[in-house]
Formats: sequence, C-alpha cells, structure tokens
Amino acid sequence: MMQSESLQHRSVAVIGGGPAGLMAAEVLIRGGACVDLYDSMSSVGRKLLVAGKGGLNLTHAEPREQFLSHYGVHRSQLEPMLNQFGPEELCNWVHDLGIETFVGTSGRVFPVGMKSTPILRSWLERLHKAGVAFHVRHKWIGWCEDGSLHFDTSGGERIVKADAVVLALGGGSWRRLGSTGEWVSLLAGRGVTVARLKPSNCGFDIAWSEHFRTHFEGKPLKSVTVSFTNSKGDVFRKKGEFIVTMNGVEGSLIYALSAQLRDEIEVTGKAIIKLDMAPGWSLQRLKERLSRPRGSLSIASQLRKAVHIQGVKTGLLWEFVSKQQLNDPECLAVAIKELSIPLIAPRPLDEAISSAGGVVFEELDERLMIRSLPGVFCAGEMLDWEAPTGGYLITTCLATGRVAGLGVLAWLSNNN
Ligand SMILES: Cc1cc2nc3c(=O)[nH]c(=O)nc-3n(C[C@H](O)[C@H](O)[C@H](O)COP(=O)(O)OP(=O)(O)OC[C@H]3O[C@@H](n4cnc5c(N)ncnc54)[C@H](O)[C@@H]3O)c2cc1C
Repeated sequence: MMQSESLQHRSVAVIGGGPAGLMAAEVLIRGGACVDLYDSMSSVGRKLLVAGKGGLNLTHAEPREQFLSHYGVHRSQLEPMLNQFGPEELCNWVHDLGIETFVGTSGRVFPVGMKSTPILRSWLERLHKAGVAFHVRHKWIGWCEDGSLHFDTSGGERIVKADAVVLALGGGSWRRLGSTGEWVSLLAGRGVTVARLKPSNCGFDIAWSEHFRTHFEGKPLKSVTVSFTNSKGDVFRKKGEFIVTMNGVEGSLIYALSAQLRDEIEVTGKAIIKLDMAPGWSLQRLKERLSRPRGSLSIASQLRKAVHIQGVKTGLLWEFVSKQQLNDPECLAVAIKELSIPLIAPRPLDEAISSAGGVVFEELDERLMIRSLPGVFCAGEMLDWEAPTGGYLITTCLATGRVAGLGVLAWLSNNN
C-alpha cells in the first residue's frame, strides 16, 4: 500500500493488541496514518501466544465454499471480508513474516514449529520498525465529554485525542489474558447494541457420579461419533475425540457442536448427545459378538475381548446403562452405538476458547464503523459472530482488523 501524505498527521488510536488490533495497526501505518496502539496488559498478543501452546491453527485449507459454511448465520456479513483476506492471503501474509506454513492431515493450516511466538515476534518487530507506537498497561475506560479517549494507566489517568479509533478488545473468555469483555457496558452506555457474550467452543457440564469422575477424569475418547438432534429436528453428527473432565466433557469434537448444544440448552434447559463408541462396527456385528456365550467372563471382560470396548468407554456404559440392560446383549450393543448422555450447561464463558455475541452488525457499516459513533471502528472477536475451532477464528480476526484499518483510511481521506 502507498504511503498517503495527506494522512501523515492524522492520528489513529487502536485499542487492543490481539490479532485484530495488530492487523488494523499494520494496515493503518502502511496507509500513512500516525498509529498509537494501546493495551491494558503489560504486553500485547497474549491470547495469540496461548493459542500457540497446543499448536497454532492459523486457518483451513478446505475449498472456499466449505470454509465459509462454518460461519453460520453471520456468513453473509463476513464473506466479503473473507473474500479479500481469506486462508490463501493469510498464508501469504505469514510467509511474508518469514514463517512457513503447512497443511495438516485434517486440512488445518499451522506455522512450521506450531508456535505463535515466532509470528508475534516478527510481526511486532515489523510494526515497531514501521512506526507504530505501543502503549501497554493502558486500559481504555471510556470517552471524555469532548470525545477524547480515557485510559487508566500504571502512571494514572491519561486522556488521548485521536482522529479515529479502532476498538479490537476481544471477546470475554480467558480474562486473565486481557479480553475481559468490560467494553460491553462502555458501548452499551453509548447506545450501541451488543449481543450478550456467550461461551463458544466450550465444554459442558455432566452430572458424573463420584466414582466415574475419580476414575476417568482426563481420559480421552478417541475415534468416536457424537450426534445430536435439537428440538427443531436439525441433526448434527461429527466424528472425532474429546476428553472427560471433572465437570463434564471438552475437546475438539464437543467444541465443534458447542454452538448448537449451547443454544438448545438455552431454549429447552437440556441437550442430549448420542455417543457412538464403535463407529467402525455395525450394530448387527456388535449384537452378534455380544450374544456369544460369556462363560465365566465378566461383562467388562467380554466387552474388551469381543468388541474392544474398555477403559473409559466401559465406564460410560456403567454410568448410563442399567444393570438389566448391561446383561442384555441387544441393549448393550445399542448402548455402545448410541449412548445417551445428558448435558446440563455450557462451562462458563471465561473457560471457553472464544465468545459468541458482541457488537451486532446492524450497528456497523461495511467498513466496520459504528454508524452512531462516526470515527469509531470495531474488529475481531468483539463483533457478533462465532465459528468453530479450525483456524476460522484467527482468520476472521485478521480479516476484520484489515477491513477496519482500511475503513479508517477511507473515512479519514473523506473527512480531511
Ligand atoms: C486456549 C486458546 C486456544 C486458541 N487457539 C486458536 C487457534 O488455534 N486458532 C484460532 O483461529 N483461534 C484460536 N483461539 C482464538 C483466538 O486466539 C482469538 O479468537 C483471537 O485471539 C481474538 O483476537 P482479537 O484480536 O479479537 O482479541 P484478543 O486476542 O482477545 O485481543 C484483545 C486485546 O484487547 C485488550 N483489551 C481488552 N480490553 C481492553 C481495554 N479496556 N483497554 C485496553 N486493552 C484492552 C486485551 O488485553 C487483548 O490484548 C484460541 C483461543 C484460546 C483461548
């Protein structure tokens, strides 16, 4: 992008130094604006760094149509932005930072080395060199009467005047990393409609017995299929893995269905998943194997020897199937193929990977400026959309950060 001389003395405050804010800052500085980036924490990009702990999933290499299908009801608002900056553009952008990427077997895209640290380090170096001024330990606490930005800093209060502002304050999960969701009341106080922040990509509570919890907490269920039918009759089915937690279940397979499960619990007070613990086996084959005479074998031994069900899978059968059914080969086979597990509630927002809800798109123009607050733009997870894990989150945070940055440049040019 060409440096614009006309924007050289226009100051832009970017508040929030996650992927969305950093991308907005990058676009703005390249466009010739004077950029100050503020963050309440003592360093920026903390959630991005934590995201890299289990392997940073940057984006997904599936066909575009399939990629876009993961954004559900918010696809139409996000599609134009993702068409400009989608998986391919994201990979090129990472390569430009000097980091190679690779596509995993599932189609997920990772940086070589899997970590966020090299990306963040290289990116921050580039932003510093380009002239972005970073101000950490600056918590934005609202606007002054004259429209200036009000910060609480380690050195006391600070008032900042800026020609435009990008808010990229994140959602409401993992508060200790800086995204506390406290901005909701600041924007609502200015009349901006914000959809309630809810847990997305989250675990769920299950009323485990004490025995099950103590024996199986932390145990993984691999290569299983979970299906779920909501009260409207929509069926969701996915294969993968999850783990048993002290309170219930979590993990990629549960996260993938978490939006539908959360919404069902919100409407009806409960959600029941059906677990297929032997997806490679037909019901008929299971019945046939389990109907063979058991002799002196216990049910647990027969399950292990005849159909390879053991450990936590056996524990789940004992947890949810009556003694009478366990002794009936037909019932036991059905339970292995479709064990009903009632979910009570999603885990709290703070524990979720991401948030649903945020500033509703009706409040924003196509440049992501809040219509009722000219010069104030929003980006990232604080907008009202959600997507499963798989790289869709970071891709959209970067894409919206870019659009907000470009939006500010266009708005400042028109308001010279
Ligand atoms: C454990 C974990 C693993 C994840 N793994 C992945 C993954 O592999 N792939 C993927 O796509 N996504 C992943 N995510 C999600 C992804 O990290 C987030 O969606 C993304 O970081 C959101 O970017 P953002 O810029 O909108 O907000 P954030 O990254 O949350 O940044 C917001 C920033 O705003 C600052 N801030 C907030 N309020 C104020 C205030 N009042 N004043 C000043 N500053 C403020 C915060 O300190 C923070 O630095 C993961 C998340 C978690 C928790």
